[in-house]
Amino acid sequence: MAVMLPNIMKNLFSRPETRLYPAEERILYPHTRGHIEFDADKCNFCTLCSKKCPADAIKVDRANKTWILDSYRCIVCAACVEDCPKEAIQMIEQWRTPAFSKTVEVYEGPKTEETQPEA
Ligand code: SF4
Ligand code: SF4
Repeated sequence: MAVMLPNIMKNLFSRPETRLYPAEERILYPHTRGHIEFDADKCNFCTLCSKKCPADAIKVDRANKTWILDSYRCIVCAACVEDCPKEAIQMIEQWRTPAFSKTVEVYEGPKTEETQPEA
């Protein structure tokens, strides 16, 4: 016990080594990979992002102009951001808000006469 006393005294009067979350939040650094955001107005539904995604998190239906993100599969690698020719996907530095259930994000582009699905 006596041999441990210096350590005990030191730990009693020193600052904790860990951050006191949630009172003290971690500062996000520039270029933090938080989550991706998609802009359907810029997308041409070329499907490149879904082909490049290593986690199979993006599904693109060119004919129906739908873009679907399963954010729970996304590993925030930014491959889709870097390869999108239309800059329709952005990396946002904030973490995604925690959720109670898993959902996918479905986006639809404007339909034209040629791409309207048959009734
Ligand atoms: S987000 Fe970019 S890469 Fe993906 S389908 Fe749209 S234009 Fe193509
Ligand atoms: S950031 Fe990476 S894992 Fe996430 S959707 Fe884009 S390519 Fe897929």
